Amino acid sequence: MVALLRERGITDPDVLKAMRSVSREEFVIEPFRDDAYADSALPLTHKQTISQPYVVALMAQALRLRPTDRVLEIGTGSGYAAAIIGELAGEVYSVERVADLAITAAETIRRLKIPNVHVRFGDGTRGWEAEAPFDAISVAAGGEHVPSALMQQLAVGGRLVIPLGAVPESQRLVCIHKTGEGSYEEDDYGAVRFVPLLPETA
Ligand code: SAH
Repeated sequence: MVALLRERGITDPDVLKAMRSVSREEFVIEPFRDDAYADSALPLTHKQTISQPYVVALMAQALRLRPTDRVLEIGTGSGYAAAIIGELAGEVYSVERVADLAITAAETIRRLKIPNVHVRFGDGTRGWEAEAPFDAISVAAGGEHVPSALMQQLAVGGRLVIPLGAVPESQRLVCIHKTGEGSYEEDDYGAVRFVPLLPETA
């Protein structure tokens, strides 16, 4: 898998090391375990998906994470991407809106003894105010705009990655660099396809 990632343009040695050290099969649900190391998205419960390894690596690389960074992730899903980010950053705060997924991901993270990844059930479009500001924010579900709470909770100098597009077919992975209060630079990392970023379930 790592050779494939390198071929596709993942060059950051720390990201490649993290992709090598986290076992994706621990996060994949039973019927799909044999496919854990294929470079494809796989189904989770609740019509959600564990992201494709290449996309997880691409997002981690775009965020240019440092070992002291505090990172917010929106859309914990299986917890796989949170675990990868946990290898590269200081603390990871991950929010998931489907309670069952949040519980299962938190259990997996505990079982694997990953101390710096914290999972919470809730609406990620509101961020995680109590732990802000964040040096990096990774949004693992797509929308038309960046929720304003996330831009506010991003530190100056921080980076945010998000799939942006009106419909999943037109999503682009965008990395926004907050260069000052109210000033931003944007980089485009190509076409991607993520599940929608939705408000909290009733
Ligand atoms: N990073 C995950 C994959 C995430 S799939 C992994 O590695 O497995 C996207 C996830 O975002 C889904 O689990 C979905 O339930 C969640 N999601 C969608 N809208 C959300 C919101 N507003 N707040 C928090 N999570 C949300």
